[in-house]
Amino acid sequence: MQFDIPFHLENFIGGNFIGPLSGNFIDNVNPATGAVYGQIPDSNSKDIDAAVKAARKAFPEWSVTPLEKRFSILNKIAELIDENLDALALAETNDNGKPLWLSKTVDIPRASSNFRFFATGIMHFATESHAMEDKAINYTLRQPIGIVGCISPWNLPLYLFTWKIAPALAAGNCVIAKPSEVTPVTAFLLGKICKAAGLPDGVLNIVHGAGPHCGEAIVKHPEIKAISFTGSTRAGERIASIAAPMFKKLSLELGGKNPAIIFADCDWEKMMKTTIRSSFSNQGQICLCGSRILVEESIYEKFKQEFMERTRSLTVGDPLEETSKQGALVSHMHFDKVMNCIHTAKEEGGRILCGGNAKKIPGRCENGYFIEPTVIEGLGPNCKTNREEIFGPVVTLQSFKTEEEALQLANASSYGLAATIWTQDISRANRVAAQVQSGIIWVNCWLVRDLRTPFGGMKNSGVGREGGWEALRFFTEPKNVCIQF
Ligand code: NAD
Repeated sequence: MQFDIPFHLENFIGGNFIGPLSGNFIDNVNPATGAVYGQIPDSNSKDIDAAVKAARKAFPEWSVTPLEKRFSILNKIAELIDENLDALALAETNDNGKPLWLSKTVDIPRASSNFRFFATGIMHFATESHAMEDKAINYTLRQPIGIVGCISPWNLPLYLFTWKIAPALAAGNCVIAKPSEVTPVTAFLLGKICKAAGLPDGVLNIVHGAGPHCGEAIVKHPEIKAISFTGSTRAGERIASIAAPMFKKLSLELGGKNPAIIFADCDWEKMMKTTIRSSFSNQGQICLCGSRILVEESIYEKFKQEFMERTRSLTVGDPLEETSKQGALVSHMHFDKVMNCIHTAKEEGGRILCGGNAKKIPGRCENGYFIEPTVIEGLGPNCKTNREEIFGPVVTLQSFKTEEEALQLANASSYGLAATIWTQDISRANRVAAQVQSGIIWVNCWLVRDLRTPFGGMKNSGVGREGGWEALRFFTEPKNVCIQF
């Protein structure tokens, strides 16, 4: 496919690419250069009304489209994403600031995996039956809900956008989807791909705009019966307050403040390499990154020295360069937020072991939003730095003496998304995994993902789970039918 990315992006409604009804646009900035390089529709409730109208028209046919047909369209979308990997990866990097090699090896491949996974998943999705001896039999229908809303964030733009859209479509729903206004381009291109793959008009509608005007219009629309949201806990709270009195189905994937718990008996080299990745991948802007590193006291000094050394050697640079391990933060606003968090850490008495400053990259990227990977020690579990999500290349180190203390520190958070445990003692790994308050636990690894597993957090990290059957159950309405003999 030949992708032309216009300066003014358009909404994808009813199979057509159209501008916002208000005529207003929002600037789109390349965070590596600081330059405005496009504009996106500043859509509002009128655009959402138009999208709902298109979805309403498409739903009767899509909801009864045979599974094999749905499979082949979604699978075709996956193929087209793969075929256009280079163009999509470049668009993602220009929009987000992440290294191009990362977009090519993680973000875009995962977007096609999402479609392929749910294309095949729906072919195997079975429902339950409950026999009542000789009295009756119950069977459960799982029918598409109707029109559903999918709202996603900027950190893994196409990856998380498709993680919601693919199961929603596979289950027979029509979708109103909104990508982050900070990273809109690959979502725009997905509209082109869906059209080329033969997805019927109105089945997927992609509307661009800001959270308060466009996102909230999706949440408030009475015909949109379920909302799948990934983003901040603050926005999740707002969405829940609107959706709950309307009795909408809600899936909320929110923030995290994840612990990495490192025991002295770990596989040192594997732990070190992985902890660098789990701390700083995507400039620390992954909800699953471990931002609170808890280290057993007997290895604390050794860990600190080697971790600092390896952190200092991470090259921060132009995301288009192969050698850049770290790219730019996503926006000026987010750059300011992370720099303020580093300032707060200092005020709280934290010692900056390495990093702590903005990074100037000469040349093309001299006005970009780069921050040195930063390691902080000397702060306890109750300070702001260890309580609030920073979502940048910033981690703290704390030491513990016993397993109990490690657990106390790990659970000293209002969040509960993910945790990493490093130990060679299998009994301890199981004990600690059972007691850490997180929806996702990795033992001796990080970000190893099987798309069949339940994905999501507890506490303020969200409600509900995505992935595998969980996603297909979320996007369907169960109906029990009881037949008496
Ligand atoms: P955000 O909450 O600001 O925005 C996320 C999306 O919601 C955007 O599309 C935005 O326009 C929209 N939005 C904002 N306010 C809204 C409202 N009132 N109504 C409807 N829509 C609204 O989050 P962000 O800054 O884009 O992303 C970073 C956050 O996302 C971090 O907190 C991170 O932890 C979280 N996150 C969580 C997961 C997870 O799986 N749990 C994954 C990735 C990111």
